[in-house]
Amino acid sequence: CGVFGIFAPGLDVARLTYYGLHALQHRGQESAGIAVADGSQIELQKGMGLVPEVFSGHSLDKFSGFAAIGHVRYSTTGASSPLNAQPLVFRYAKGMLGLAHNGNLTNVADLRAQLASTGSVFQSTTDSEVLVNLIARYNANSVEEALMKCMIDVKGAYALLIITEDTLYAARDPYGLRPLCLGRLGEGYVVASESCALTTVGATFVRDVEPGEIIRIDRGGLTTTHGLTAQCPAHCIFEYIYFARPDSTMDGFNVNKVRREMGRQLAREYLVDADIVIPVPDSGTAAARGYAEESGIPFEEGLMKNRYIGRTFIQPTQEMRELGVRMKLNPIREVLQGKRVVMVDDSIVRGTTSQKLVAMLREAGAKEVHMVISSPPVLRACYYGIDTSNEQELIAAQKSPEEICQSIEADGLHYLSLEGLLDIFAPKEKNFCTACFNGIYPVEVPKQTQGGKFS
Ligand code: 5GP
Ligand code: SF4
Ligand code: MG
Repeated sequence: CGVFGIFAPGLDVARLTYYGLHALQHRGQESAGIAVADGSQIELQKGMGLVPEVFSGHSLDKFSGFAAIGHVRYSTTGASSPLNAQPLVFRYAKGMLGLAHNGNLTNVADLRAQLASTGSVFQSTTDSEVLVNLIARYNANSVEEALMKCMIDVKGAYALLIITEDTLYAARDPYGLRPLCLGRLGEGYVVASESCALTTVGATFVRDVEPGEIIRIDRGGLTTTHGLTAQCPAHCIFEYIYFARPDSTMDGFNVNKVRREMGRQLAREYLVDADIVIPVPDSGTAAARGYAEESGIPFEEGLMKNRYIGRTFIQPTQEMRELGVRMKLNPIREVLQGKRVVMVDDSIVRGTTSQKLVAMLREAGAKEVHMVISSPPVLRACYYGIDTSNEQELIAAQKSPEEICQSIEADGLHYLSLEGLLDIFAPKEKNFCTACFNGIYPVEVPKQTQGGKFS
């Protein structure tokens, strides 16, 4: 998911949030929503679909206010349904509160059961509603205090934005698993999942929100407190591999630069005698450039992407995914015919994409197809908010690289080594989560949530 928040009296905060969400659309395409605070209440609009579909025509005109939060969703927990769309807005003893959350809580089953046993009711199946209930219960004195208490109860990943009638809050989990950064816009502030959204609205990047930090922004300015901070951060390394936009910089590393380096490292690890290097656009493009630079093999565009089709994985069923690959990518025969091709993609999850693409390149006349992947094999499920949840579906959890190479019918297959990947982040390589590659989970995953999606 993607979150965007703004506190900027005098500006059209609803429209700026719309633009910000638009820049974060790659982080979720199932639903979108905006909640705007005007000092006395919170106005909400949300719905299923892409940002421009949910906010078509003049639908933004009705908003007036000085603070807003927005959310784009792709479902990791809870079904893809209107009830699970965010922001969640509710009324409780202290007034109104809106919440937008990116990440997964790992102990949500326990928390939900505890809350339900003392009378809480739930409208949705998202883990985020548990946060709402906890904040409502804990807010005796302030939202910050409530968030501090939440941090003790809640395990897992969260980049969180909250608005009340007159204040914006941002919080990041103790490990900083999901990204969140802070920007300045005139006299106001912007908080977003990725810095590309700051740039889009004309804000300047100030810094990343720190793991365990709670930020409060109101007419008095910005104040910050620290809740719980882990000894060592565990930023999601998969953001750099796949999820984030290349023009974003998060936790000190520019995504494009990292991807390019991954490609260079791949060429050092696995140099193929080939005629051209092609990316699987867009997620493989930067790494393919790096591979071409380091190997000296020419970079070509051998696959054309239909820009109007979203990320295939965001389609929740396997059938839709299979169809998705064909609707999304077409080979350019004139580039591929008779060539020995190195094809670079960022990851193999279920194996659907690579298998289809290798076949597609051969049909288009490629003589050899070597698949080069800018991540290590995805062996384990993610419980922190990236949709590789079900281990049974991960091809690398079932097959060796040799077997995968056979099953996708490639002439060769190479995955970036984990050491090679981590080297790019040196000397900060210990600050990253790599659980989906090596099973070392920074936050404990309770038994009942293991081995699959949990709602
Ligand atoms: P596959 O087709 O092997 O299931 O998925 C690999 C393709 O999906 C790659 O092109 C990659 O860009 C994209 N992908 C990357 N990350 C994810 C993810 O978290 N979930 C899913 N399902 N697909 C992803
Ligand atoms: Fe990211 Fe993988 Fe860790 Fe999930 S398990 S947070 S995808 S690095
Ligand atoms: Mg891809």
